[in-house]
Amino acid sequence: MNKRGLLLVFSGPSGVGKGTVLKEYLKKHPDTAFSVSATTRKPREGEVHGQHYFFLTREKFDRLIENDGLLEHAQFAGNCYGTPKEAVEKNLEKGIDVVLEIEVQGALQVKEKCPDALLVFVMPPSFEELRRRLTGRGTEDEETVRRRLSNAGREMEAAKQYDYIVVNQTVEDAADQLEQIVCAAKHTAKYLREFIDEVEYDAETCCK
Ligand code: 5GP
Repeated sequence: MNKRGLLLVFSGPSGVGKGTVLKEYLKKHPDTAFSVSATTRKPREGEVHGQHYFFLTREKFDRLIENDGLLEHAQFAGNCYGTPKEAVEKNLEKGIDVVLEIEVQGALQVKEKCPDALLVFVMPPSFEELRRRLTGRGTEDEETVRRRLSNAGREMEAAKQYDYIVVNQTVEDAADQLEQIVCAAKHTAKYLREFIDEVEYDAETCCK
């Protein structure tokens, strides 16, 4: 079948629970590679360099951009975030699916550069529920929560440019929806065009 992996771009407003949904999905699909982003944000408690993020100084982050080391990059809530290009490309070439958990500006850059990427956006059941989840998390100060909530409206506007929407009512349901979406995406004629070409070529050559 397809030799190249699927590039899955997963976004949603802060507090929607996209990280938890993704974790649930990855439990069932441990063969999918999670792209570890670079960021200038300070680590939160329990976050590990190289596992959750590559925590970089602004200088090192800028150097990555200059060296064309990022597939996409964007500013979010006063910090820089970006996807290291090389690891993504290597995995896709090996036929391994890669998931990027990134915000919308970066996701739209990926859509532009990689038209075959599958863009999935996670929505909360309502804005009120999003506010409740973000405040309840307790990892950010009031100003950060306010900034992230004001970003959420803008982000949900961009959801219209994504391929699919997952509503995170419960983590299990949302992870199931994601699984079905990925499965459907892997059966589109667009994704399987190389495979179709091969079989078509064999059919043509066999009957000559
Ligand atoms: P957090 O600081 O809460 O970990 O992430 C803030 C936002 O940055 C989230 O929406 C997250 O998905 C996004 N983000 C994480 N890594 C990247 C990245 O490499 N590129 C972009 N554009 N956004 C990212």
